[in-house]
Amino acid sequence: ARRAEVAAWSGPGATADGVPVKLVANVADPESSASAVQEPVEGVGLFRTELCFLNRTDEPDVDEQAAIYAEVLRPFAGQVVVVRTLDAGSDKPVAFATHVGEDNPALGVRGLRLSFGNPGLLARQLDAIRLAADDTGAEVWVMAPMVATVAEAADFAGQVRERGLKAGVMIEVPAAALLAHRMLEVVDFLSIGTNDLTQYTMAADRMATDLAHLTDSWQPAVLQLIAITAHAGQQAGKPVGVCGEAAADPLLACALVGMGVTSLSMAPAAVRAVGARLATVGAETCEEAAEAALAASDPAGARAAVLQVLDAGE
Ligand code: PEP
Ligand code: MG
Repeated sequence: ARRAEVAAWSGPGATADGVPVKLVANVADPESSASAVQEPVEGVGLFRTELCFLNRTDEPDVDEQAAIYAEVLRPFAGQVVVVRTLDAGSDKPVAFATHVGEDNPALGVRGLRLSFGNPGLLARQLDAIRLAADDTGAEVWVMAPMVATVAEAADFAGQVRERGLKAGVMIEVPAAALLAHRMLEVVDFLSIGTNDLTQYTMAADRMATDLAHLTDSWQPAVLQLIAITAHAGQQAGKPVGVCGEAAADPLLACALVGMGVTSLSMAPAAVRAVGARLATVGAETCEEAAEAALAASDPAGARAAVLQVLDAGE
């Protein structure tokens, strides 16, 4: 979309023929939430709670956590806010939670895995999230990062639902993507974290700049796993969002919608470009773009193919 169209786009997210696609924000803390609400977003698709605690040495108690979360939720009262439980470890160390001294932290005890050895950590966070939801009137959905098995998802969902909230898991591990249909038997929604899904699918560290050609969400293997996950969501009639960087790429976003993704969560600065692009193409064109991307043999080919389909369909 041209620059003027991008500036003028004001939501809500939809294809040219009116199929709604929720465009939502990634937020990190009260400040980023307050600025995100200024943009034409329809809620929050990823609240990275661990980013509130990067400079804390001790775990805030339930009331203090609840107060912080409430500040993040309040601007979005009445809207859906997807709160992610602590994704501590690897690229996001949190002093009071992260395991130290692991040889391979990206494959270690991180994300939901921290709660296996320390169940109180998750229980306290879920209590705080529940209090913040009550306090603010935001419609809170809760999801776990770094889930690998259906049993983990079921256990997490049980704990979240005990507190009366909707439960989901992130799809960041190829094992979870392959079993998306089984995950959906035990949770209410899925959210694909393309940053980690790409890292783990390609066995390439997301922080390694030398490996940028591999840590590219346009890689065919990554697109296949996204398509499997989105298809499972359509079959189950449950929401499947994307909350990694891929959602902020206007071209890829159209292909993701064509695969069946129902929401795109991104840095708020990206939402107008994605919304404006999506508004120029029909749902069928998005499906053709998805097929073209999935048929390509490398990232450059997938990009070129999607661009061609979208330009022809405008
Ligand atoms: C992801 O992995 O794509 C994601 C959204 O989570 P994070 O970037 O916080 O790891
Ligand atoms: Mg991640």
